[in-house]
Amino acid sequence: MNFARLALAGAAVGSGFALLAACGPAPMTSAAAAAEAEAEIEKVEHQEDFDPDEPPVKRPVEFEFGGELTQGGWIRGVAPAGTETVTLDGNAVPVAHDGSFFAAFDRDAGDNASLIAKRKDGSKITHEIAISPRAWNIERVNVARRSGGPSEAFMRIRRPELEQIVAARAVRSESEGWRQDFIWPVRGRISGRFGSQRIYRGEPGSYHSGIDIATGESGTPFVAPADGVVVLAAEQPFSLEGHLLMIDHGMGLNSAFLHCSDIAVSEGERVTQGQYIGRIGMSGRATGPHLHWSMKWLDARVDPILFTGPME
Ligand SMILES: [Zn+2]
Repeated sequence: MNFARLALAGAAVGSGFALLAACGPAPMTSAAAAAEAEAEIEKVEHQEDFDPDEPPVKRPVEFEFGGELTQGGWIRGVAPAGTETVTLDGNAVPVAHDGSFFAAFDRDAGDNASLIAKRKDGSKITHEIAISPRAWNIERVNVARRSGGPSEAFMRIRRPELEQIVAARAVRSESEGWRQDFIWPVRGRISGRFGSQRIYRGEPGSYHSGIDIATGESGTPFVAPADGVVVLAAEQPFSLEGHLLMIDHGMGLNSAFLHCSDIAVSEGERVTQGQYIGRIGMSGRATGPHLHWSMKWLDARVDPILFTGPME
């Protein structure tokens, strides 16, 4: 695969300050430039409330963002003027050429996250975000967790599958899907929720990484929830995921669709929101036909329902 990679830190564009200094007819004193930059910031501050769907016009003086400030949730917004790099709890956050950024909170995120912009002059702007906890569906069962682990025979098949998944997730396409409001890939009964977990005699099993949607049969078509680039389309079914389809929405945000009976797109292909991309099924390890849709932002597992809103 040959995808263009986003330049991360380098993509953060010049602030009003830098542009003013560079474009002025004569070299400005730093005091004059600072005064003009301040006037510019002043204007921005009096803009209407920030709407994450509108393309940003001016760079704000503080972080501006909207989203779902909860475990498995996300934020989307604009970094302050003059931002060089953005971090969330110390991890680099990709910033687009226009200063827009996207970040998300893992299922097990703590109750606070620090969003920090480092500016060209070395100063920092910090925004502490309170992350509300979720009430996960936890089932305690009086059964021992299956012990012994996977067999060597299974791992011989599994290792290359995992390598393909890791490689697909590492692709940074230039998709702008992360800017969109996501839609449901298919409508049906929600047969499994993100984050649900079983505890086996006190020992936690792995939680459910996505949302399961069942229509009662195999073959129901599903569509792309947002624009993206196909980064994995498993022609041979994977041992657990079956025919696995993965789409990169840009900025480190991606979707995976498991257990497909058919995949209608191929690797490297660009897809647009609402485009038919496959049919639901029960390939791989599945007890019945359903679409398992999971989403990740970098290493964080996030809840698709916080991107779409509840199914009506
Ligand atoms: Zn599932």
